[in-house]
Amino acid sequence: MPNRPQPHFPEADTKHYWDGVKAGELRYQTCDACSKVNFTPTAHCQSCGSNALSWHVSKGEGSVYTYSVVRQNRIPGFVELGAYAVAYVDLDEGFRMLTNVVGTANPTTDISIGQRVRVEYEQQDSGEYPIPVFRPI
Ligand SMILES: [Zn+2]
Repeated sequence: MPNRPQPHFPEADTKHYWDGVKAGELRYQTCDACSKVNFTPTAHCQSCGSNALSWHVSKGEGSVYTYSVVRQNRIPGFVELGAYAVAYVDLDEGFRMLTNVVGTANPTTDISIGQRVRVEYEQQDSGEYPIPVFRPI
């Protein structure tokens, strides 16, 4: 099982997000003042500064905006991954997320910009919070 770094609490801005991940939900915010999508979660809207933010659950599907393949990483928690894809995924609800694309035989050739992907939650040896990653649909 993977052994990725875990979130450190107390962390008021992202606790609801991580509780969602643990429950199998990809949660994001929208601003009640300017209606923009707010991600990553914060106490104040990143567009207008309002603290009137509402939480929502993403359906967890989106498209690869861009990606890169890491071939060697000696940081504990990543050493055993081999070549893996780091990607920005544009969720259908309008936010962009830095994540991994998993489940391909060869991340160099099997991932493409615009490819449709769906979230899944990778359980971790290192703690109780799974890591949201994406798999091609
Ligand atoms: Zn706003």
